[in-house]
Order: sequence, then C-alpha cells, then structure tokens
Amino acid sequence: MSSLPIFPGSVDALGQPSTLGVMGGGQLGRMFVHAAQRLGYFTAVLDPDPTSPAGRVSHHHIATGYSDAQGLKQLAALCAAVTTEFENVPADALAALATSRPVAPGAAAVAIAQNRIEEKSHFTASAGVAGVTCAPYAVIETPAQLDAVPPDLLPGILKTARMGYDGKGQVRVGNMAELAVAWADLRGVPCVLEKRLPLKAECSVIIARGWDGAITGFAPQYNVHVDGILALTAAYEGNMPPALAQRARAATESIASHIGYVGVLCVEFFVIDDGSDDGALVVNEMAPRPHNSGHYTLDACDVSQFDLQVHAMAGLSLPQPRQHSPAIMLNLLGDVWFDAAGQTRAPDWQAVLALPGTHLHLYGKLEARAGRKMGHLTITGANIAGVTAVARQAAHILALPGLDALG
Ligand code: ATP
Ligand code: MG
Repeated sequence: MSSLPIFPGSVDALGQPSTLGVMGGGQLGRMFVHAAQRLGYFTAVLDPDPTSPAGRVSHHHIATGYSDAQGLKQLAALCAAVTTEFENVPADALAALATSRPVAPGAAAVAIAQNRIEEKSHFTASAGVAGVTCAPYAVIETPAQLDAVPPDLLPGILKTARMGYDGKGQVRVGNMAELAVAWADLRGVPCVLEKRLPLKAECSVIIARGWDGAITGFAPQYNVHVDGILALTAAYEGNMPPALAQRARAATESIASHIGYVGVLCVEFFVIDDGSDDGALVVNEMAPRPHNSGHYTLDACDVSQFDLQVHAMAGLSLPQPRQHSPAIMLNLLGDVWFDAAGQTRAPDWQAVLALPGTHLHLYGKLEARAGRKMGHLTITGANIAGVTAVARQAAHILALPGLDALG
C-alpha cells in the first residue's frame, strides 16, 4: 500500500506522537529505536525475548512470536508504519501487517532475501544490468541435482537456501564425496553450492529508497570477515577503486529499484581477481535492513543508516549523507569477554576509551557467548593513517582479529 507521510511531531487522536514499529528486537532494532526517538516518535518492538536489546529501550514491547496473530494486531493498532530489523521475520507476518499499515521493506522483498535461490535469480535479473554477476552456483534440492553438479563448482561452499547468517548453515566442500556428506548432514534441505572464489576483498553498499523511488546512500565499505563473521569495516575515500565503487552502487540501486524496494538495503559484494587492476565484482547477498557494515555511519556521517531507515518508512525526505571522518569499525563479539583459557574477563574499556576518536557501542545483551555480537567500536579521526593506528591499539587491548588485513 502507499504511505501517508508521517511528519515528526504529528500526533494521533489521543494527542500522542506517532509510533513507529519494528519486527525484531536485536541490536539493529535498538539503534533504529534510538534514531526514531530522536525525531520524537514513540516506538514499538515485537520480539518474543523479554530482555531483547531493542525491547528494553522502546516505549512499547510486544513480547510475542513473530507470527502471533494477537501480537501482530497489537503492533498494527499501535503503529503508523512498521519496519524490520532482521530478514528471517516470516514474510506472511509482514504481509498481514501490510493489509492495514505501510510496511517497509515489504514482504515480497524480505521473502527474496530469505531464500538464496530466489535471491540469486533476482540478482541475475537486476545486478546483471550493471555488469555484476553472482558466483557460479548450482541449486541442490533433489538427489538428481546433487549428482548433476558440474565438477568445476568444486571446491565450493554448500549453503542452506534459508536461515543462514554469520557463516551458519555453510559447509566448505572439496569434492563430490564431501558434498554428498555435507548435504546429508544438512538433512537434505534446499541448498546452493557456490564455487569457492579467490577473494581480493569484500565490500558492501547501503542505500535507502523512498516510497517515491528516490534513492540516497553511502559509498561502499570495505569489509573483513573472520570465520564467516564480519570483524572489521573500513570506510574512507579511496578504500575502493572509483570505477568499482560506482559499479557496486549502480548494481545496488538496480537490485532495489527492480522490486520497488522501500527502506534501507545493504548488498554485499566480493571483489575477485580477474586479471584486471581493479578486479571484478561478484554480488553475494542482500540484507533488507541496516547492516553491521554500516554501523560506522552513526559516528562518521551526518546522517546514519538508522536515520535513513526512519526517514524511508515514515515518508520523510531522504537526505544525501555526508561522511565527515574516515572510520574503522571493529565488531565486539562475545569472545572479548573470555581469555585464551576460556575464563571470563572484564574487557579493559578504560584503556580503549582513553584512545582518541573511539566510540563504544554496547547492545545491552545480558550474556556474552563466543561469536555473539555484543557491541562495536568505531574509530574516527582526521585521516585513515591515524584511524588505523588507533584501531590497531584498540584491537591489541581487546585481542580482536582482522587487523592484519589492513596491511
Ligand atoms: P551474513 O552474516 O553476511 O548474512 P552468511 O552466513 O549469510 O553471512 P555469506 O555472506 O554467504 O554468509 O558468507 C560469509 C562469508 O564467507 C563471506 O563474507 C566470505 O568471506 C565467505 N564466502 C562466502 N561465499 C564465498 C565464496 N563463494 N567464495 C569465497 N568465500 C566465500
Ligand atoms: Mg554475508
């Protein structure tokens, strides 16, 4: 459905400011809530966890399952518009909300992001226009498709079509025998086998698209993953060859426009060696929401990815963000709370915060677990050399991985 602009400060019949809703109560929801509240909105979070990071800072927290009819009814009754903070919200729940409220992004776009098979078809149809392809792949849904896998896709990575994130649901396979075992271990669920590519680099592009089709966004970020999880994002002028950056942006805009996307969209790319100086772009996956690789925008840009999420869903104009400082973002996983012997420890925040240009974000999660995203640290400064030097010091204090990639 089309939207009515919901201006900040507008009140409902009871004299209350408009309420914006979000499906999901994780850290992305929490940062959305902060951005919405800054504009004077009330907020509502739907998440079954009573201690969810976003639920604890929101005016309203509906602690039901994502498909719970009562919970969805309550959310629709409270909210002028609804967004989502993670892609595994059931698309049916978004479709149900959309019968009475503007929902951005919509169920159809989220459904594509939930399924790697549909996502790849969508990329082929949309990013292809900008000369960007997917990694060579095969769909495996039946034993016959398994047997018919072309040998040149090996060594490859078998990925479940659904519910993968942070490297979960992925198995590296070297030959047909390993592939058969891996698919059986994944209980024969629908998968894609992707050829393992020699990555020169990884990057992502975050844009926002409004109800009127207007697009704004950020320059590509350079990302470093460790064990399938984002460890570091570097955002500064010159982090990518300009022609490559332009193509990544064009592909992202095409991916969004092709499906009339509304909201914040992140598209992840690989840069692979094709013999050219710049390398070639391969599109990996999309997130129908703000993304971990865009957290630096909170501290290094005048408008953040969460501001754009609020503006897009509420029909407010979408300003062109300006990055005012080069930045490096370091992810803080639960591992930071454990020493090499597995004993819990208190990270030395005092030493980190004594370093210039450090911005610490902790998500208020009650329990640290290895691999769990607990917070992030963004470092800003006058130039990337200075930012890198501080990032190295912080990473050393907290024993963080990924800094080697900066050279
Ligand atoms: P996310 O948390 O970003 O949703 P995910 O679990 O969905 O992650 P992918 O983004 O598909 O997984 O893969 C995670 C990481 O594994 C990539 O960022 C990349 O470092 C590596 N990887 C994935 N596919 C390939 C490939 N075809 N060739 C080489 N490396 C790959
Ligand atoms: Mg990924």
